[in-house]
Amino acid sequence: MREDNCIFCKIARGEIPSTTVYEDGDFRVILDLGPASKGHALILPKEHFKDLCEADPVVTAKILPLAGRIGKAMKTGLGASGFNVVQNNGTSAGQTVFHLHVHVIPRYEGGPAMVGWTPGKENAEELERTADVIKGAL
Ligand code: 5GP
Ligand code: ZN
Repeated sequence: MREDNCIFCKIARGEIPSTTVYEDGDFRVILDLGPASKGHALILPKEHFKDLCEADPVVTAKILPLAGRIGKAMKTGLGASGFNVVQNNGTSAGQTVFHLHVHVIPRYEGGPAMVGWTPGKENAEELERTADVIKGAL
């Protein structure tokens, strides 16, 4: 499936040029146009899914191993000391392109921290209540 007005569908299928670092039958991996660090890559499934909730698990099961391969190449090839794997779902989570994609962001010694949050506090009862709500919705 593809969406006619989806830029990542066009890029994934090679209809719009991109800086591609890897391609197979299921995915194209490209360099982000606005990289958070040198080598920031995006894993694009060739099939259109809006986000992780709508995606085919057979396809998404292949993403983490591929992210590991790409990250390893960033370490070996670019000298990255680590990498973040980031995947945004929904506007409130920072998703701006509504074709499922996974960021692989190389990190370098002394570079800025890019993915983080301020830890909050929660009591055990509230954690249990929250867990029950999620369990009930699974
Ligand atoms: P999101 O915020 O949706 O998780 O990430 C979208 C990412 O796609 C952003 O990091 C943005 O820089 C990148 N991006 C948006 N349009 C294009 C494009 O046409 N080509 C490439 N290579 N990256 C894009
Ligand atoms: Zn698409």
